[in-house]
This record gives sequence, structure tokens and C-alpha cells, in this order.
Amino acid sequence: GFVPADRIATLGVSEILQIGARAGALKRAGRPMIILGAGEPDFDTPEHVKEAASAAMALGQTKYTALDGTPELKAAIAEKFRRENGVVYGPAEITVAAGAKQILFNAFMASLNPGDEVIIPTPCWTSYFDIVQIAGGVPVAVPCDGAQGFRLSAEDLAAAITPRTRWVLLNSPSNPTGAAYAEADYRPLLEVLLGRPQIWLMVDDMYEHIVYDGFRFVTPAALEPRLKDRILTVNGVSKAYAMTGWRIGYAGGPEALIKAMAVVQSQSTSCPSSISQAGALAALTGPQDYLAERAASFQKRRDMVVGALNAIPGISCRVPEGAFYTFASCAGVIGKTTPSGRVIDSDRAFCAWLLEEADVAMVPGAAFGLSPYFRISYATSEAELRSALDRITAACAGLA
Ligand code: PLP
Repeated sequence: GFVPADRIATLGVSEILQIGARAGALKRAGRPMIILGAGEPDFDTPEHVKEAASAAMALGQTKYTALDGTPELKAAIAEKFRRENGVVYGPAEITVAAGAKQILFNAFMASLNPGDEVIIPTPCWTSYFDIVQIAGGVPVAVPCDGAQGFRLSAEDLAAAITPRTRWVLLNSPSNPTGAAYAEADYRPLLEVLLGRPQIWLMVDDMYEHIVYDGFRFVTPAALEPRLKDRILTVNGVSKAYAMTGWRIGYAGGPEALIKAMAVVQSQSTSCPSSISQAGALAALTGPQDYLAERAASFQKRRDMVVGALNAIPGISCRVPEGAFYTFASCAGVIGKTTPSGRVIDSDRAFCAWLLEEADVAMVPGAAFGLSPYFRISYATSEAELRSALDRITAACAGLA
């Protein structure tokens, strides 16, 4: 029979996708399932982006492109970094791939030797762990609980560093917590890294445009120019421009790293889709005003979700600064029993119960490395959110 390679033997398909598959199956079987699992905006890709992609096809831009991005798209990305982040990258310091996920994959494949460690504050997007492992590295989880705003402290960072540490990976705003690092949160961490020239910093700025209450998004390469030559700034069009299926992510970083990432890409996908690159170019160079409108719409939904969750006895939810997720504690319902006799002994049990008996699909905190919590993705209509919250509230009221 088939025996998987050691490098993937301990890995499985993401729990988020598994829950999505189970919820999808129940829905097709006729159940009124509400799925709060998927990490993608419910908005459509903007019309001018679709038109640019159609035009690219009509113009015959349907062949291989330059290995890690067309010159036009790289120029637009450099301009984006300058305009929005105050960071100057030349074209040789920019790379484009099939999603930010491939950017992370390229970067770790290009830089990690067996046993090299990557410090990852948790809870985190689970792909970080698996990508590091596939690349032969060792993910080092540093737990950051709700009491510290789910953010890494300088003390915990310093304590996690070993002679094998190669990277620190930060994500702001965060999937799954929505927590974001303000300048004052970043400063002490950058201070620690300044004194450790062997360690590089990868930042995942994927949710930069989805921030609330006037939160001022900043990125480390702008905050600390002395660290810029060992920072990889990762971003993409998936979440900001509702383009998850187009598969375009990008990064800015030191030329030597960018070149090494291109070597990995040259033997995997050769180049990102030519048509999607034309779409991403239109997204980055076209109107940007709808980004704030979409963020305002997400903020309204955040307020509704956080308010309803905090009204449920046993549940408590911190107010997130960004992204479209809440990460609430269900510590107060652990140990209780459902009317059907199930014992809620973990966040996995809590989510499984609500999936099977309340028709609401959510992802347990365990999937992101912190229990007992659960993640709601509120990138869905207000009407659906309202009924999902009503169902959760009613279900929890029946716990004894
Ligand atoms: N980074 C974070 C924090 C994410 O949540 C996601 C998607 O869920 C990605 C990166 C991947 O984005 P992409 O669609 O560009 O691969």
C-alpha cells in the first residue's frame, strides 16, 4: 500500500477544511446549516478587476509570464508598499506567487535547513506549522492567551529564542484572533530582534485593510529600517480585494532571499497565472475607496457578533482590532451537559455539538493551537449571522 513520505506523515488535511466538508454534506442533505468556518470575504471580486482579466485574455496574455511576477505587477506592488506602508522595495526585492500561502512555502523552502526553528505565536493560522514542517523546519509555538490580547510579548519572544532560531513569524491582524499589533506592540519585539542578527522576521500582513475603530496598521519594515534587510513582508490580494480564488500573493524582502524563493517557484509552478496577475494589477492600481467601505461593513458585523457572544453565560469574547474573525473563550461551558446527554469536555466537543445539533459550523480553538476557544468567521450576511447567534444562544441556554 501507499506509504507517505516522512515529511508529511504526521500532517493531515486542515481541520478547517474538514469541518467545512462535514457542514457542506449536512447542508446538501437538507439541514439549514450556517457555515461560519470559511476564511474568505463574502463580497464579490470588484467588476473592474474581472474586466482587466477578461481584457488580458482577449489580448493574448495567456502564456507563461516572468518567473515571479510580471514587471507591471511588480511595479504596482512596489508602489503599493511605498504608498500604503512607507516601505521602499525595488523590483528585485518583490516576488509574486500563487497566493500568500505559496509565498510562505517558497520562503521556508528557500531558507530552512533540517532542524531550523521558526518561532510562531499561537493561536495562529494552522498552515504556518505545516508549511514549516514540510520545509524541514521545526515550528516553535509560543502560547499567547486572551489576557495578553493574543499578542507576543518581548519576554516570551526572548525566552523562545535558541541557537537554532531562524525566523520569527508574526501575523497582524491575526487569523484566528483578529488581534493586531500597534506600533507600541511591535517596538519591544523589534528591539529584541535588533540584538540578534542571525534571526529573520516574517510578517503576514494579509488582513491589513480590514481594521476597525481607526486602528493604525503598521508594518515592521517601515517601523525599523535597521531590520529591513532581514524582514520578509508578506501580503496578497485574497482578503482585501475578495480575490481568494485568483491565487495571487506577494512579498517584499531582501534580494538574496527573493532570488532563492524564485528558485523554489521555478521548479513548482513556474509562474503565477497570467490572467490573475492582470486582475491583481487592476486591483492594486485601481480605485481603493471600497476597501474602507468593506471594512466598515465588517466592523458592523464584528460588533453584532461580539455583543451577542458576550451576552451568553459561559462565553467571553475580546473585541478584535481587525480581520473578520472572533476568537471567543468557551471556558465557562466546559464540563456542562447537553439536553441530549453529551458532555462538553473540550472546545472540539462544543463545536461538534453545535454543528450536529444546532446547525452552526465553527472551528474549535484547538485547530489553531489554543483551547478552550472557538473561531467564528463573520464574513457572511447579517441575517445569517443573526440566526447563527440566536441558535448558539438558545443551545447554550439548554446546557446544564
Ligand atoms: N495568511 C493568513 C493569515 C490567512 O488567513 C490566509 C488565508 O486564510 C493566508 C495567509 C493565505 O492567503 P492566500 O489566499 O493569498 O494564499
